[in-house]
Amino acid sequence: MHPAPIQRLITELSRLPGVGQRTAQRLAFHILRAGDTEALGLAEAIREVKEKVGLCEVCFNLAEGPRCRICEDERRDSSLICVVEEPSDVIPIERTGEYRGLYHVLGGALSPIDGVEPEDLKITQLLQRVATAAEPVHEVVLATNPTTTGEATALYLADALHAQSPDVTITRLASGLPVGSDLEYADEVTLGKALAGRRAV
Ligand SMILES: [Zn+2]
Repeated sequence: MHPAPIQRLITELSRLPGVGQRTAQRLAFHILRAGDTEALGLAEAIREVKEKVGLCEVCFNLAEGPRCRICEDERRDSSLICVVEEPSDVIPIERTGEYRGLYHVLGGALSPIDGVEPEDLKITQLLQRVATAAEPVHEVVLATNPTTTGEATALYLADALHAQSPDVTITRLASGLPVGSDLEYADEVTLGKALAGRRAV
């Protein structure tokens, strides 16, 4: 058995995605051997990210301050909103260079089995945003993941948006993305094509 502080570090590290017990142990011993600057730098970086990074009050993307950099960029096309599941999905879409609109981050996908209901996601906020936008929204792109839960979420949103805002075009990414995988793992060419070929739903 390890001394309690080491055990605690191993337990915390093993909670990280993709880190098993063995890797956690290896990392813990690496941290233990590392110099103060390196080890405490890691601790400080974790503290700083938790203290300074929050969610954008408009789109719920990650933001340092009340609004994210994309919402604050006046060159972006505010008549276009792309709906994604997680902040990590914004990055691959930005990388395609195909998209100049704004985003709306839901914070997950509908999954009744896991207890994720519409009220657990930023859906009300999306509907409100579309209904009350200062500059009218012309199109909402549903870019949830091509998974069962992502598709279910897109269907739900399409219905809700059609009912509320019949004048707004609702589109879904074209097929061609690897089914069952997350947007964040799609390569930019495939994702760029899926964006360019998006179709009304
Ligand atoms: Zn934002």
